[in-house]
Formats: sequence, structure tokens, C-alpha cells
Amino acid sequence: MADITIESDPFKLARALSGRHLIDGAFVAAKGGKTFPVANPATGAEIGTAAYGEAADVDAAVAAAKAAQKGWAKLAARSRGKLVAECGRVLAGHVDELGRLIALETGKALRTESRVEASVLADMFVFFGGLGSELKGETIPFNPDMMTLTMREPVGVVACIIPWNVPLLLMAMKAAAALVAGNAVVVKSAEESPLTVLRVAEIMNSVLPPGVFNMLSGFGPECGAPLVAHPDVKKVSFTGSVETGRIVYKAAAEKLIPVTLELGGKSPMIVCADADLDRAVAGAVAGMRFTRQGQSCTASSRLFVHESIHDEFVARLKAKVDAMVMGDPLDEKTDIGTIISTSQFDRVQSYIALGRETKGAEAHVCSKMPDDPRLAKGLFIQPVIFTGMRNSNRLCQEEIFGPVCAVIKWSDYETVIAQANDSEYGLAASIWTRDLHTAMDATRRLEAGFVQVNQNLVVQPGLSYGGTKTSGIGREASLESMLEHFTHKKTIIFNML
Ligand code: ADP
Ligand code: MG
Repeated sequence: MADITIESDPFKLARALSGRHLIDGAFVAAKGGKTFPVANPATGAEIGTAAYGEAADVDAAVAAAKAAQKGWAKLAARSRGKLVAECGRVLAGHVDELGRLIALETGKALRTESRVEASVLADMFVFFGGLGSELKGETIPFNPDMMTLTMREPVGVVACIIPWNVPLLLMAMKAAAALVAGNAVVVKSAEESPLTVLRVAEIMNSVLPPGVFNMLSGFGPECGAPLVAHPDVKKVSFTGSVETGRIVYKAAAEKLIPVTLELGGKSPMIVCADADLDRAVAGAVAGMRFTRQGQSCTASSRLFVHESIHDEFVARLKAKVDAMVMGDPLDEKTDIGTIISTSQFDRVQSYIALGRETKGAEAHVCSKMPDDPRLAKGLFIQPVIFTGMRNSNRLCQEEIFGPVCAVIKWSDYETVIAQANDSEYGLAASIWTRDLHTAMDATRRLEAGFVQVNQNLVVQPGLSYGGTKTSGIGREASLESMLEHFTHKKTIIFNML
């Protein structure tokens, strides 16, 4: 268990991590010998490469996980938990390093996003590490002459497939829970951001036995699909788009294995006339994840604001976003970095164009493009707040995954609740009011897995997180999620006669 030296130069670290998977405790090149480039979205320059994973790499990673899982599951649950918590403590020492690398790789600003994500990553491991002894069963009063009990057993090898927007946090939510429950893990990183999670894998492997935690990089069809289809993978935990979620669900159905799916969102935020305006505006900025360029499945991208405060709200919101600095993600002064990739960039621009073409809608363009010539090719998009939008507009129905939100004026409470629920998604929602009755009524009626009153917090260790409707299946980040999704319940009956 050699200590890993902190490397605060992310460029150097990206090169050092290039072209490799982590399988059975060791860095290895792809069996096919191929790599793919990883770009810095703030400049377009290549910062390194990732191993191009294919079925043969999947086979090697799953075989390593399967072999290691047996010994891992035999450890006392608390001992596994202690090792997972130790991963968290070691990772906490690398927060700045990981923050820099994730900023370089994803374009998310270091101060407002990337360092924060690295720190939540470490915390998530510490949280789940403490839950080993909670893998309890029950005794059941079935028959006085028998003793009947249940036990929690691991499912075996778990595949975790993650997207690019918050890869560290999402990986931690899945892997830490799966590991503590006694499973071995194979993670497939997203093609846009494979390097920082690989560094995390390296650090974790300095603590865990080899083979328990493996990491592959690669594309969906070539690497993700064979991982889901592999006969020794007994559970898939996936976060990504609805479209890919459907493919993963179908492939898992063929094998009859359980899946957890965390998919998209189009979260409503309802601001009532009596809301604390300052807090609501700050909540809209946080909820929309403007510091992450809106690249969040939870983004409160539909802002329903009561007509009596609408103009004031929009003015204050615009002023707040105007004050945010767009720039080099690695610069401590930067609030807002870049979009992840050119394809996402084009997609976001197409929604902005759609909004501009919408009759009655007005685009309020915020902040200021960076003027540093080194960033001239960077994937920067100024945040846009649309007013005069209808909830039925495609811009209010489809997930944009960019810094674009719509403010929708409302006057009738019943209508606004119906509009908030008029969405294929059901991930998060919030209501902003000082009236207890309204707050309670709305929390019951809003169709979402995560509903908040007068705040827009992000995922918290210990609180079940996940969606309804097409936002997904299953919950993450909590004790219950670990028990429900990463263990099987075995019922045992002792007949004493
Ligand atoms: P995005 O639209 O942001 O690319 P995706 O849902 O396509 O989101 O990607 C999320 C993750 O799913 C990524 O790691 C991606 O490589 C993976 N993925 C894509 N297609 C498949 C597939 N057919 N099977 C398994 N994983 C896939
Ligand atoms: Mg994709």
C-alpha cells in the first residue's frame, strides 16, 4: 500500500494517466492497443489519452472482479467499511489535486465546482464506510418452533456506468455503496472525462485489495454494452441519458438482472408571491447550477415565478448571473467554465436558437465571454434566461444540459402545480413560500423524487436520491439505497423440531 504522491500539475497528471485501464490492481493498456484523445474544453487542446476499452478488456476486468469478490465478501462488513472509509480519508488528502484535474478535463471551474466535487467524493466514501454494520437482517416471528431470519448478501460483480458531468460524485455514490455491501466493482467512465476517475481508482487501489475495484475507459457501444451484457455482471448502476438508460435496461432485462437508473430531469422551481425574494433568487442560481454551466440532471431549469414578483425576480436573477465571471476553469477567480464537448455545445446552441425563434419569448443573455486569447477556442456559452416562455415549449420539455433556463409567469396555484408536473421527468422540484399550508400541499403533489422547500440543495450523503417517471428507477446516496440495490435478501428458516 504505497502512498501516492500528490501531483498538483494537472497537465502532468493527465499525461501520466494516459492510455490505461486499471484492472486487478494494476494499470494496463487496452488489449486492442488503441487509445482515444481527451481534450481540455477550455482550449480544445489534447491533454492526454484514454485506453479504448472493448469486450476483451471488459472480460479481463470482470474476471478480476469476480475472483476478488469472494475474498472481499468474506471480510467482516465493518472491515470492508473501514477500508472504504480509509479510501475517503486518503482521497480527502487529494482534493485539490483531483479538483485541478477534473477542472482541466471537464471545464468546470475549480473554485465553484471542481474542488467541491472532489471533496464530496471523499465524504461519500467516509459516509458509506461507516455503514458496514448496518447490513443487518431481521428475525421474523413466523412459527414458535422455528427460528426465521433474513440475511443481506452481496449480488457479486457490479457494473457502474457513469456520465461526464459529475463523474467523481456519481462514481462514489455507486461504488462506495456496492463495495461496503460486499460486491466487487467495474466502473466504466464516460468518454469525455476518463482521467480524474482513473486517478481516484489508482488512489483507492492503494487501500483496497486488488481486483475489488476496476476501471475501464471507452465508448458506450464498444465498452459499456459488453459490460452490461457480460454474464458475470449481476447488477448495473447507470447514470446518463434516458435514451441510453433504455438500452441498458433492455440489455439487463435479457439477463434478468437488477438495474438502478438515474436519468434526466427538467426540474421545476415554483416561487410564490410571499417567498423571500433574495433567498429565492440565490436558490435559482444554485438550483440552475450556473457554476456548472447548467450541466446537471437536477438543474431547476423551469422557474415558475408568480406574476406579482416576476419582473423583480428576473431583474435580480440576471444581475446575479451577470456578476459571475466566465473564464479559465483553473483560475480561482472563475465562477463559470465551459461546456464539456463540441457536440454538447452545438446542442445547447440549438436550444438557444429555438428560444430566440419562439414568439413572445425574450432572451436575457448574462455575464461576459472571457477575453483571454488563449481561451478563444474554449466551449464557453453565456448563460441565457428566457422569459415569456410556455411550459409546453420544447425548451421547457426537453433536457438541455446547458446554462439555459426559462422563467414562466404564473398566477393560479392549481395551474402552476399542473404545469410543474406536466413533464416526462420527475427528478427534483422545489417550492418557495412562507406559507406552511402551501409548502406542505406542494411537496405532496409535486411529482419528483427529491422535493425541497425554500432551498435547492444538491445530493447529500444519507439522503435517498433518484427520480420518478423517465428520470429513473431506484435511489442512491443513502443506507436504504445500499441495502435495496446492492444486496439480495436471503430468508433462512431453522426448524427446531
Ligand atoms: P451523454 O448523452 O451525456 O453522452 P450517455 O447516456 O450517452 O450520456 O452516456 C452515459 C454513459 O453511458 C457513458 O459512460 C457512456 O459511454 C455510456 N453508454 C453509452 N451507450 C451505452 C450502451 N449502449 N451501453 C452501456 N453504456 C453506454
Ligand atoms: Mg453519449
